[in-house]
Amino acid sequence: MPSKLTRRKFLQANSVALLVAQLPITARGADDATKAPVAKTATAKTVQSKPGKWVRWDEREKQQVTAAVEQPSLFYWQGKGPNHQTALFIERFKEFNPCKHVVTCSSGTAAVHIAVAAAGIGPGDEVITTPISDIGSISGILFQQGVPVFADLGASTYNLDPKAVERAITSKTKAIVAVHLAGTPCDLGALKAIADRHQLVLIEDCAQAWGARYQGKPVGSLGHIACYSLMNSKHIGTGDGGVVASSDPRFGPALLKFADKGNDRTDPAYTWDKTAVLATNYRMSELQAAFGAVQLQRLEGIAAKRAALGRIFIEGISGVSGVLPPALPATDRGTFWFFYLRLQLDRLRCSRLQFVEALRAEGAACSAGYIPVPLYRLPYFQQHAFFGGRWPVKELGLTTMDYTGVRCAEAEAILSTGVNCPLNESMDETLIRETAAAVRKVAARFAV
Ligand SMILES: *Cc1c(COP(=O)(O)O)cnc(C)c1O
Repeated sequence: MPSKLTRRKFLQANSVALLVAQLPITARGADDATKAPVAKTATAKTVQSKPGKWVRWDEREKQQVTAAVEQPSLFYWQGKGPNHQTALFIERFKEFNPCKHVVTCSSGTAAVHIAVAAAGIGPGDEVITTPISDIGSISGILFQQGVPVFADLGASTYNLDPKAVERAITSKTKAIVAVHLAGTPCDLGALKAIADRHQLVLIEDCAQAWGARYQGKPVGSLGHIACYSLMNSKHIGTGDGGVVASSDPRFGPALLKFADKGNDRTDPAYTWDKTAVLATNYRMSELQAAFGAVQLQRLEGIAAKRAALGRIFIEGISGVSGVLPPALPATDRGTFWFFYLRLQLDRLRCSRLQFVEALRAEGAACSAGYIPVPLYRLPYFQQHAFFGGRWPVKELGLTTMDYTGVRCAEAEAILSTGVNCPLNESMDETLIRETAAAVRKVAARFAV
């Protein structure tokens, strides 16, 4: 274990802090509490409350996994009868997002890759997407030899700005991968209208937005294909796992094939020599499906709690000079995978790091930023070195994309001025109100 000082410095300097922010607060807090030098006066801190015990799974998941183990096969396609876990998972998934075709898979990254492949993206096809996300939102585009085109974001939604998307459209554009960052729904009305107008496939990456709603409808139900992650730190999880879903007859039936090496297991007459599409193996086993089926029953409770806490946090920091809360229309439900606010540094006499340190001194859990750089700044984008150091679509003249020239100003500002506060269902209103009060106090202290 690194020393406390080393660890803290590391966290401040690095947005790997987000990963830590997703750990149970109790685990981190205990470490800090036992090793920290005694605070000047404990009562001086604005944040006095602590999160409760964060129980993410219990006997119910254990029982369901036991039921899965009682089957003779743990293969997703072979289970039958009441113990078939994949079928149960899909049934429960459809209760909250009633898509016609729902396919379980190994990760959120797999889900997006399957979606992009099912959308027919091929060499040189452009897919408009966001520069701020998990790389899993983008890697599938590259693996299908598509060209990610980064569009800029809304200053306070942190999601694709529909106007920027429209400007990025060319004759080669085939799809949009829209990410509902941190649980805030994208402007799906505008994005869907653009997709329809230009005949683009709208793929929703809902990995951070389980349970979120756009104008009353679940995110993932408005675009053509929806992708979800069940990775450990998401709202609900199976350790690792994913879901990809669609109601569109053009894409829905293809999802299963692209998750399972091109096999069409729905066709009783299917034999391997009929395999017509190249696809890798992204299957999920019955064990994860069993676990996930119970996790899905927890989803609404988790989503509702996070949505309520996030609203309270927004209210608590609205109108504070130097601080920009996230934007969330009253008609939408955000489910806050984390809570991200921005600093207006021209209105504060401090750096972001000083603000974060002062917030922490008030007892608030927080870290600076999210991912360290926009995705287009990753070395393999800058060097166009995706496959063995090369990029065939560029060498073949199928694209003129030059990522060294890409700049999304708002996205860069979002990353350089953001403060990330963990928010989850183990927390209560009091803790969130105290954290908001700490933000107000620190902003007032540094106000110009
Ligand atoms: C987590 C995440 C992914 C990738 O999910 P994995 O299950 O880790 O592969 C993709 N997109 C977004 C927005 C995510 O947050």
